[in-house]
Amino acid sequence: MPFHVMLIPTLRCPSKCSYCWSSESGSPVMSIETIEEVVKWLKNFRNEPVTFTFHGGEPLLAGADFYRKAMPLLAEGLSNLKPAFAMQTNLWKMTPELANILAKYNIPLGSSLDGPEELNDLQRGKGYYKKTMLGYEIARAAGLKVSFICTFTSYSVKFREDIFNFFLENGFTLKLHPALPSIRSENPDKWALDPKEYGELLVYLLDKYLENMGKIEIMNIDHLCKCVFTNRGTVCTFVDCMGHTFAVGPDGSIYPCYRFIGMPEYVMGNVRDHPGREDLARSDAWKLMFRYKEYVDRECGECKYVKFCRGGCPYNAIAPTEGEIKGVDPHCTAYKRIFKEITERWEKEFLGGSDMGMFGFQPGHVRDSRHGIMSIMLKRL
Ligand code: SF4
Ligand code: SF4
Repeated sequence: MPFHVMLIPTLRCPSKCSYCWSSESGSPVMSIETIEEVVKWLKNFRNEPVTFTFHGGEPLLAGADFYRKAMPLLAEGLSNLKPAFAMQTNLWKMTPELANILAKYNIPLGSSLDGPEELNDLQRGKGYYKKTMLGYEIARAAGLKVSFICTFTSYSVKFREDIFNFFLENGFTLKLHPALPSIRSENPDKWALDPKEYGELLVYLLDKYLENMGKIEIMNIDHLCKCVFTNRGTVCTFVDCMGHTFAVGPDGSIYPCYRFIGMPEYVMGNVRDHPGREDLARSDAWKLMFRYKEYVDRECGECKYVKFCRGGCPYNAIAPTEGEIKGVDPHCTAYKRIFKEITERWEKEFLGGSDMGMFGFQPGHVRDSRHGIMSIMLKRL
């Protein structure tokens, strides 16, 4: 698992998406002094390449001045760790000035669109689509790469075909995200995607992907196939993220992941104290994350997919139960469904039982225009 530090300049966000579980209107904005402390903290924390992801709330609310100062501090101050950068933003606050700063550091952007304008705005608020597309144009003009996360909810999953076609027709890279129960809302499950439906959605997208190979990129399907092929997780959900991923909140508090930001019981330390691994390991949050890992070893021990699933995301498992470990990631049903589908198709192709063959054809046969699962497995990510 690569070393990953998420920086959360603020939990504020100008948007009000229906199913949001992470924004907080009164949240402070991170100061440059906190970035300086991050640099001092990480200088001798772990000697290997690090990826920083700016996340939120909405990270662009920190403004151009913040990034103009923060980027050289991180890039040059931690050059020994060969830092790479990424950002997750709704793009509303993108300006040419900000875009040029981010382009200088080659920062790929992840943004969010839930599909065609009407559907997107129904879930994310009126006017969202236009504001994001405006920011998208500014980012692209500066040469920034933008991919979109599409949140599928209990509502939008009914329009999966329209959503897929929207991404295909616009040439957008698709990364899907199942709506989680919003534990800060009075009706947490209203928008959450049922795990069974999530599994079916993944299988549907796998089929659509194979039908449209070369015309669209679906990041989740790429990774799910790669996980099965390499027999190990290739994204945080499917590896033991604990001890490798950290998140720093606006006040310098350190958490196990951005998903826990703003939940005081998950604070492991503060960058101002420059804690080492042993210091963080003494915190309750660290111990809880590692108890989850041991729980997965026991509970998922017999599962065929455990090596490349690792019990899914600890946040999904422990946050809704207020820190009690009562089960693995509730998306287990979806993971089993898609891993089974990929494994079985692979075996069938591998054994030549399918007329698609390993690379979409078999020797001696007329080349089949459909792609097989191996063509995704062998893709360079
Ligand atoms: S808690 Fe979940 S989202 Fe966060 S790093 Fe771990 S697997 Fe990823
Ligand atoms: S699919 Fe379910 S049982 Fe298997 S490793 Fe993942 S979470 Fe555990």
